[in-house]
Amino acid sequence: MPDARPLALTTRDRGIYDQELRDWLPKRIFDAHVHVFPRDSFPGNHVFPPKNVYRRFGCQHTAEYCRAAAHLLLPDCDFGMLSFGSPDLVVDRARAAAYTGDISDNVRDFGMTLVAPEDSPEDLERRIRTHGLIGYKPYRNYVTGKPAEDVSIPDMLPAPQMELANDLGLAVMLHIPRSDRLADPENQREMVDICQRYPKVQIIFAHIGRAYYLQNVIGQLDGIREFPNAYVDVAMVNHEGVLEYTFRNYPRERILFGSDAPIAWMRGKSVEINNQYAYLMGEDYRIGTVIYDAESAVEFTFFYYEMLRGIRRAAERAGLTRAELEAFFYANAHSLLTSVAKGLA
Ligand SMILES: [Zn+2]
Repeated sequence: MPDARPLALTTRDRGIYDQELRDWLPKRIFDAHVHVFPRDSFPGNHVFPPKNVYRRFGCQHTAEYCRAAAHLLLPDCDFGMLSFGSPDLVVDRARAAAYTGDISDNVRDFGMTLVAPEDSPEDLERRIRTHGLIGYKPYRNYVTGKPAEDVSIPDMLPAPQMELANDLGLAVMLHIPRSDRLADPENQREMVDICQRYPKVQIIFAHIGRAYYLQNVIGQLDGIREFPNAYVDVAMVNHEGVLEYTFRNYPRERILFGSDAPIAWMRGKSVEINNQYAYLMGEDYRIGTVIYDAESAVEFTFFYYEMLRGIRRAAERAGLTRAELEAFFYANAHSLLTSVAKGLA
C-alpha cells in the first residue's frame, strides 16, 4: 500500500479552522459528492500509476478513513455523505455497489451505483434494490468506441437507463462531458433535454457543470434553472467568483455542498488562469491539469478548506441568510436524497 498515511493538521490548518471556519460553519454538514471504495473494487493485479492520487490513501478510500478525515477537518460537525465508487474502467461496479450499500443507511449516508452504458436496466435495478442505493453515477470514461471529447450525455446515460431512473425516481450525479464544459452548446441542449424528458429523475450537475473559472459559468445556468429536478453541487470549486455567481443566479435550494473527497483531502488549490484553470498542488499527485509546487514555495492547506473559504466569501457577498447557508450545507441534499430513498422503499 504505497504512500498511505492518515491526514494530519499543521499549525496553519488549525488556525484556518479556528479563525475562519469554526464559528461560521454550520454544525450539520452533508457532503453530497464523495468517492468511497475499498481496494478490492479494483482488480487485485491492478497497478495504480505512480502519481495516481489514490496512492496517497493506500489505493482505496474507505468509509472509516473518510469519516476520520471529516472528523479531523470538521471536528465540531455532524458529517453525512452521498458516496459512490471510483468510476474507473477496471473497477468492478457490482462490488463497488455492494460496498456503497454496506456503508449507507439512507438516514445519515446515501449511496449510488457506478453506471456504464452497457449495464442493463435489469442489472441496475437489482443493484439499486439489493444494496439500498438511491441513484446512478455515470462517467465519461465508460463510453468506449469514440474519442473522449466527442462523448455526449445520452452516450453516458442511454434511454433505457434513464427510463428506469424515471420510473424509480432516482438521483443521478452527472459529471458533464466535453472540453467546453458548462459553456458547451451541445451540453446545454442535452442538459435541458434530460431534465425535461425525465422529470422524476433528480439530476445533480457535479462541480457546477465543471465550471472552475468564471467565464465558463456566466450565463450558463439559465437553461437548467427553470427545471425543479436540476441541481448543482460545488465539489472542488473554490473559486469565489464562480460560487458567488451561482449563489446569485441559481435557485439556492438546489445548490448542494459536495467536496469530491478523497481528492479534496489533498493539499492544493484550484486557480483560474487566463480563462482556464489548473490545480496548484502541494503534493506530488496528478488530478487533471496540475501545476505541482515542487520547490514548496508556499504552504498549502486542504482543497476542502479552500472550498469552505471560497464558499464563505461567496455566500457573504451574495447575501445568503444563515438559514440558506445551513440548508446549502445540509438539508438541500439530505432532504432530496431522503425523499428519493422513501420513494424506493
Ligand atoms: Zn467526483
